[in-house]
Amino acid sequence: MDPLIDVFTWGDLGRWDELVEGLERRPCLAVLGHPVAHSRSPQMHNPALEAAGLPGSYVRIELRTEEFSEAMTVLPKLGFLGANVTIPHKGAAFAAVSSMSEVARRCGAVNTLAFTPEGIAGHNTDAPGLKQALQEAFGIDLADLRILILGAGGGAGQAAAVQCAMDGCRRLVLVNRTLAKAERLAADLGDLLPGAGRLLAITTEEGLLAREVAEADLIINASSVGMKESDPELVPAHLWNSHHRVYDMIYAPPQTDLLREAAAAGARTANGLGMLLWQGALAFEYWFKQAAPVEAMRRGLA
Ligand code: NAP
Repeated sequence: MDPLIDVFTWGDLGRWDELVEGLERRPCLAVLGHPVAHSRSPQMHNPALEAAGLPGSYVRIELRTEEFSEAMTVLPKLGFLGANVTIPHKGAAFAAVSSMSEVARRCGAVNTLAFTPEGIAGHNTDAPGLKQALQEAFGIDLADLRILILGAGGGAGQAAAVQCAMDGCRRLVLVNRTLAKAERLAADLGDLLPGAGRLLAITTEEGLLAREVAEADLIINASSVGMKESDPELVPAHLWNSHHRVYDMIYAPPQTDLLREAAAAGARTANGLGMLLWQGALAFEYWFKQAAPVEAMRRGLA
């Protein structure tokens, strides 16, 4: 068994003891998703376990939607301490937990599970992971900023919006192709950002976007636009300028057109690798109640 390469399935869990017998490091953590083969989490968490002197390993387990709820009963019995959850299970994980953090409740999604004697606890480390990544990349405090989120209607955009609102940012503009989703999110976050004009939902229509981009200090791309070469342009290049800080949650490719054009206009830019790292580091801290060996995790990702 190679935790860095192998992908296990629901069927494998039925003969788990046989599979892991004799291993020096018995799996104790997993990423659960469908598909899950692309996940880089084992590359981060296995070096972290080693660097922290902890036993066990971190593996990928591919689960179908109909298998997820039973897996919540089976995994703790097989010795798992916790798990990360990715597409399409973040909503099912939200429903499966017996307690959760405020940020997970606000996000309506759980990406980190801890199997405890009291039940399953849930957290969302995407939101605070983004905050740490922004702090590291730009040295900024979200509370000081006027922030615009592109793709606010998706899960990642919602996590970003929740974090910005919980930190009490100066102004928050939620941009989404499907306006109704951004409007719903704005309604949910209204209590965190009271005051006229402090929280706004708009579509990607160019005129509206141009005005709001000009007024923003930090622009976060939380949409999936930019992953493929054929993707449309989200923000016209002439709208960027040197006062912008631009964060793209995408890390493959490492530089999207959006980041390249923003950097060409003098903006400070960073890609989503930092968010991936910090959401993992915060998950480690949630499971083990100790500081994560962040540099070992960073090297693992690189
Ligand atoms: P999702 O739930 O599928 O949301 C996709 C978002 O992109 C929606 O807001 C969608 O708008 C928008 N979108 C898609 N195609 C578009 C187009 N052609 N024009 C305009 N908007 C478009 O996905 P997600 O889970 O939130 O993930 C979004 C991105 O964040 C992905 O690239 C993912 O890899 C990245 N991410 C990175 C990290 C990290 O650690 N770095 C963590 C999580 C996610 P509609 O609502 O109108 O469909």
